[in-house]
Amino acid sequence: MAPSPDSSELISTNPANGEEIARVAVTSATELNAAIERAWQAFHHCGWKSLLPHKRALVLHAIADGLAAEKESLAQLQMQDNGKPLGECRGMVDSAIGTFRYYAGVCETLETDVTPARGDYVSFTVLEPFGVVAAITPWNSPIMNDATKVAPALAAGNAVILKPSEDSPLLAPELARIALAAGLPKDLLQVVQGRGCDVGAALVAHPGVRMISFTGGTVTGRAIARVAGDRLVPTALELGGKSPHVVFADADREHAVAAVIAGIFGSAGQSCVAGSRLFIEASIYEEVLAQVVARAKSLRVALPDAEGVEMGPLASFHHRDRVTAFVERARAEGGRILCGGAIPTGGEYDKGAFYLPTVIDGLPATAASCQEEAFGPVLVALPFKDEADLIAQANGTAFGLACGIWTESFKRAWRVGRALEAGSVWINTYKQSVTSTPFGGFKNSGVGREKGIDGLKLYAQVKSMYFGL
Ligand code: NAD
Repeated sequence: MAPSPDSSELISTNPANGEEIARVAVTSATELNAAIERAWQAFHHCGWKSLLPHKRALVLHAIADGLAAEKESLAQLQMQDNGKPLGECRGMVDSAIGTFRYYAGVCETLETDVTPARGDYVSFTVLEPFGVVAAITPWNSPIMNDATKVAPALAAGNAVILKPSEDSPLLAPELARIALAAGLPKDLLQVVQGRGCDVGAALVAHPGVRMISFTGGTVTGRAIARVAGDRLVPTALELGGKSPHVVFADADREHAVAAVIAGIFGSAGQSCVAGSRLFIEASIYEEVLAQVVARAKSLRVALPDAEGVEMGPLASFHHRDRVTAFVERARAEGGRILCGGAIPTGGEYDKGAFYLPTVIDGLPATAASCQEEAFGPVLVALPFKDEADLIAQANGTAFGLACGIWTESFKRAWRVGRALEAGSVWINTYKQSVTSTPFGGFKNSGVGREKGIDGLKLYAQVKSMYFGL
């Protein structure tokens, strides 16, 4: 997806073949103001915020039903919009369905605190919606990221202005359409379209927006936090990562290698939790690295709907340029490119934004390639001597989103899992995600937790009430 030359529309391009699939009108400043005004009108007058929780839950379940009914076409659309293999796109629609169902359940059962009568008064808390919240999402998993914000924000009683990425604008309008058909009051969920630097920035600065939920890059998150800080508007920030994936000498080697491969090359590495730094205990370094490289070389890189595809194209041609530049810098830093490091050629490869699975080693943990997010199919491998060395190297980045640990020792897993600075720790597994389990980052990987009860509380403010008796 790219802005068209006159900037009044976005042109959606299929990264698998470079063909245009749709044009989307960019929201003007006047339209943005009107959308926020309508959202406030809906918030105050449609009765959503005061609806009994079980009635709100019925609508959220109906949205889940609507998504389920259109699962295949939504998955196909996401595949065309960002090039992920069709199986992964189906999984993302499933995740969105599960998110609406989960928050339907949560909004029915959410309890607040009551302090029993103390003499002549009793106090308790209620959760109030903010009013109009802004949800700003990235391009890597549009339907899933949109649902992760929209479902809890609606469950808490808010109206939502959703701004998807200019690189993947096609799924958000589908979600809004399905929600309306499912019985969500009009204007409670509206989509605005455009580039981050204009429509996104205008949304964040708009006085009608009372809370901002953002998923995207750390640089953007920081810019949004600055504006929100000035306005004293709460923010939830889900940002980037450079997650360590650790293999100890006693690990179940076969499963560890399979998880390392899926952890970085799934979604072509365009996942915030991609295990992009592989730490291998020194005594098994060469052996495990050779297994990882052999498997990376054998991955089936193909069209996203091809039989047996393991990695599709990157989400856009300009993103492939960024990944290419990242690898060239690693080469210039002195990294050994053990596989990949190139654009494949011939046949379908010549039309799409493909890049080969890439494994690099020979760099210190402090090198830029080991510190910065590639957000692509690029794995850097590093040896470690012992636990202390591992923890120092693994924690030595500005990020802290996730980590994976492979060991048969429960005690080591516990020690290392507690010591690593990461919001999610996977032990003898990787990239699992459950809607009921909070998700978010330490350090520059974010502020706040999505999913679970925490994920709903982001969109609610606590009101304390006292009753004289
Ligand atoms: P991005 O930061 O460039 O853009 C994300 C969204 O922010 C887009 O909708 C964009 O239009 C908007 N935006 C950009 N500048 C803005 C501004 N000044 N004001 C308001 N909105 C603005 O990120 P991206 O390239 O779309 O996505 C990739 C990044 O997202 C990676 O860093 C990845 O790790 C991160 N990510 C994080 C998570 C998570 O849950 N932690 C999940 C997915 C992706």
